[in-house]
Amino acid sequence: MRILVIEDEHRIAATIKKGLEQEKYTVDLCFNGTDGLDLALTEDYDVIVLDRMLPEMDGLEICIALRKKSIHTPILMLTARGQTQDKVEGLDAGADDYLTKPFSFEELLARFRALSRRPKNSIETILTVRDLTMDPKKFIIKRGDVSIHLSGKEFALLEYLLRNKETILSKDQIVSHVWNYDSDILPNTVEVYIRNLRNKIDNPFKNSKPIIHTVRGFGYKIGE
Ligand code: CA
Repeated sequence: MRILVIEDEHRIAATIKKGLEQEKYTVDLCFNGTDGLDLALTEDYDVIVLDRMLPEMDGLEICIALRKKSIHTPILMLTARGQTQDKVEGLDAGADDYLTKPFSFEELLARFRALSRRPKNSIETILTVRDLTMDPKKFIIKRGDVSIHLSGKEFALLEYLLRNKETILSKDQIVSHVWNYDSDILPNTVEVYIRNLRNKIDNPFKNSKPIIHTVRGFGYKIGE
């Protein structure tokens, strides 16, 4: 799950990013409205956290501009305390939910989960393929009865593959969903991570058929 956070208060932005990364989300940060809109228009996010008051272009304008371009990524808008009018305007502009500052991280996470469960492309609670199951909220992965332990990035990669089960995904698609736009990705990074995943979810299970498939010249898919 890849998240865009547009928030000009650096301290709040950093706290949100740190917290979400602990929950295994991939997070891009942006500190002003124009850059924020730019990223939201060009990259593919699963949820956008959008501050109402921003330099250059405010949250409301961004919301309206995105919806006008038919970008329906769920938006959680952050508003200052007591500004009820802001909330109404935000929802009218196309935001899906709002949160009043100051808020606890648990509160943000709860809203966030509700939003990311909301389709876009109908998000299931338990993801499965053959005898592999993943519970993305509890970070539990099993093949049959055997628990599998993955690193944060391996987890994000597997989740992305599973949410697009039976679909061929190019390396570019994988990079843009699993890594931040500003991380240094080497051309073979995806291959390395796919190999790591195979070593954990396919290779040890000799009695089951492999579920990660390489589609030469195109990319990878997970499926039967
Ligand atoms: Ca602000």
